[in-house]
Amino acid sequence: MAVADNLAVAPFLRSSPKKLFIGGRWFEAASGKTFPTFDPSNGEVLAEVAEGDREDIDRAVKAARASFESGSWRELPPAERARILWKVGDLIEERAAEFAELDSLDNGKPINEMMLADVPLSAATFRYYAGWVTKLGGQTGSISFPGQWLNYTLREPVGVVGQIIPWNFPLMMAAWKVAPALACSNSVVLKPAEQTPLSALLLAEVIQQAEVPPGVFNVVTGFGETAGAALAEHQGVDKIAFTGSTEVGKLIVKASVGNLKRVSLELGGKSPNIVFSDADLSRAASGAYLGIFFNQGEVCSAGSRLFVQEKVYDDMIDRVSNIANELVLGPGIDPMTQMGPLVSEEQLKRVLGYIDAGKKEGATVAAGGERAGGELSHGYFVKPTVFAQVNGKMQIAREEIFGPVLAAIPFDDEDDLIAKANDSVYGLAAGVWTSDVKRAHRVARALKAGTVWVNCYNVLDPAMAWGGYKQSGWARELGPYALDLYTEVKSVLMDLS
Ligand code: ADP
Ligand code: MG
Repeated sequence: MAVADNLAVAPFLRSSPKKLFIGGRWFEAASGKTFPTFDPSNGEVLAEVAEGDREDIDRAVKAARASFESGSWRELPPAERARILWKVGDLIEERAAEFAELDSLDNGKPINEMMLADVPLSAATFRYYAGWVTKLGGQTGSISFPGQWLNYTLREPVGVVGQIIPWNFPLMMAAWKVAPALACSNSVVLKPAEQTPLSALLLAEVIQQAEVPPGVFNVVTGFGETAGAALAEHQGVDKIAFTGSTEVGKLIVKASVGNLKRVSLELGGKSPNIVFSDADLSRAASGAYLGIFFNQGEVCSAGSRLFVQEKVYDDMIDRVSNIANELVLGPGIDPMTQMGPLVSEEQLKRVLGYIDAGKKEGATVAAGGERAGGELSHGYFVKPTVFAQVNGKMQIAREEIFGPVLAAIPFDDEDDLIAKANDSVYGLAAGVWTSDVKRAHRVARALKAGTVWVNCYNVLDPAMAWGGYKQSGWARELGPYALDLYTEVKSVLMDLS
């Protein structure tokens, strides 16, 4: 556990093992067990973390329930709750360096991306939902026989919300889940991913510092098959919100059947990033880079299928391959790093497995195509990889790789493109690069995807709806849409006659 003393987050990391945050206090796991979280740039242990399990989940759900029923949060004046959530945003910003270092070390991602994207977007998400707290209300229904009957709706919190998040954007995924849930007056039990459990614990400190009442926000660190499964099944949980793989999403649905808890899912993708020959190719190449190499390609909306119109196919492959070959790989914590290691050894094996499959299926390696060697060989680094001459039947064109591996597929005309782009069990996102305005809107309508970026890619905003078609998930997060996920609508009807 050699953490450099000059890091802002060094004091946080020194107090290991990290504990569970339940009812406003810090606890060891009931079993007393801990597990290590690793720095994927060198495979060394970064910290020991409490290994929460069923008993700890139960304790956290009870603490959440008690806080919810007490009204300690829900019954505060909305302006007061808004002020507190705004303060969470301020504190995230104040402690930006700590959050950035922590996720960089724990996940591997470049610290510059943390400072430019994850941290400010997380703060912005708390502020965005702070703004909604004072605007949440019901409606008066214009029902038959006005004057004789009065109908209105109340928007009420769902209750105790379980939230299970992945390891690719540890802080930001927590913010996307927690901010709207708290804005709607729920109590939360958050289960961060076992690969990156640390920033959720720092967030708990911040939420406590902002004076969210005890028990309203709880964090149980632990593994998916144990702590995660216990949360998904728990009869005392009213709603479960999950972001992760489609495979586990299906398990969450099964686990929710016991009490028919509400479920929202943000799952995998195999998103098409589409370049027409009339596009600004230099911007499209940067967009292809952002689509697949940002965050090591460990992005659910990664533009992992690059569709390029035949006329400019070779040109685009050259441009994207040149970018890939020049990317600076290194530990995320190094400010010079443009792409970090993959999150874990397991993920490294998975991604290398897909690279092998691509080669065996006959795709051409235009860049990368192997693990990075030399100084980087003790971390989980994969070279940014571009496969050319891919067809839609190949495994690398169909399955989510969740790594820096691009499958570039040629297309003929717009009809050919739409058929190929929509030929996927997923439908999370898509990108369209063109200078033809009519075509942009035509294609945006035809694509089966929850988000379509035109002449940009992987751009996010708390006000923008987020979620997928088909097996990419259920429901929409962010924007006003998340308010529906975390509230129940009560209809009140009164006889005035
Ligand atoms: P990945 O395969 O990329 O690690 P997962 O979908 O397995 O993605 O993980 C996303 C989150 O789901 C993590 O917090 C993980 O601990 C959790 N998880 C994994 N398996 C289960 C499960 N059976 N029940 C509930 N949560 C789970
Ligand atoms: Mg880690």
